[in-house]
Amino acid sequence: MRGASLRYSAIFWISEANETSFALTCMNMRTQRIRWTWNISYDCNYRCSYCFYADKWDKHKHKTLYLSVSEWVRLWSSIYGKYKDIFLIITGGEPLIYPDFIEIIDRLSRLGISMNITTNTSADLDMFVSRMNPANVSLSLSFHKEFDTLEGFIKKTKLIRGYNFQGCLNLVAYPPFLSELTYFKDRLFEETGENFKVVAFFGKYNNKEYPYGYTEEEKSLIGLTDIWFSRINRKGMPCNAGYDSVLLRPDGKVVRCGQVDERFVVGNFTDPDFKLYDKPLICDVDYCPCAEYSVTGKEDTIE
Ligand code: SF4
Ligand code: SF4
Repeated sequence: MRGASLRYSAIFWISEANETSFALTCMNMRTQRIRWTWNISYDCNYRCSYCFYADKWDKHKHKTLYLSVSEWVRLWSSIYGKYKDIFLIITGGEPLIYPDFIEIIDRLSRLGISMNITTNTSADLDMFVSRMNPANVSLSLSFHKEFDTLEGFIKKTKLIRGYNFQGCLNLVAYPPFLSELTYFKDRLFEETGENFKVVAFFGKYNNKEYPYGYTEEEKSLIGLTDIWFSRINRKGMPCNAGYDSVLLRPDGKVVRCGQVDERFVVGNFTDPDFKLYDKPLICDVDYCPCAEYSVTGKEDTIE
């Protein structure tokens, strides 16, 4: 799904511990594992109204880099050789429709790379969970009400948990869904004992710009506090994106994050001389929905 699959899928609370790791890395000490967000494809079998790509699919689809299993393994082996401790967050579009996806993940996981995959759950999850090792692959499921039913989503949640796969259960707080949000949360909890990770919608709806367009009552329902709003304002502040977190786009370009995108291209993934920035740089955008500046070393607690 963010980064792009869904940009929204990378919105996290910033713990005090993460603030500490941010301070350390800003002193130019690369002490943490490097987080790679891999938006593997500009394609999805859903067309959610709130998707970052909602009006851009046709424009971008042809740019997706389709490589063979062995080519991906070779490229990731090279990165793994250079940076060792890396963590992959794989989104799309929808990653599970990428050709030979299961084989790619299987091979990368055998290399020793840990990863989290976010999926819209539409693919054959039975096959996926029966082949993968949950020790180094986690699976986050996103509920997309426009294309799925809550009961179907609950069933798939039970399926992956039955195979011991960890990962978040995501739900976008798209304004038209808010009236049912409490029902969705209660029903999921009743059946699984788990909670949705409700993520803020970034975008325009009914001439309002979100997340700023939420009413106070809606903010409270979603759990958006003043602290959260102050933390998405990163303009002028140093950020680790490009240094110890990075975004691999479907076209092979590696950028600092989805928000700055083309304006800060770190390099091309297929370039044998690819390397990350050697220090954090300043953020120059108005708000940060990605939070890559704060994530390293805590991947086991996210997604
Ligand atoms: S599932 Fe929906 S939100 Fe996710 S990539 Fe597809 S269209 Fe976008
Ligand atoms: S938007 Fe700014 S603060 Fe956020 S990850 Fe990108 S560069 Fe960093």
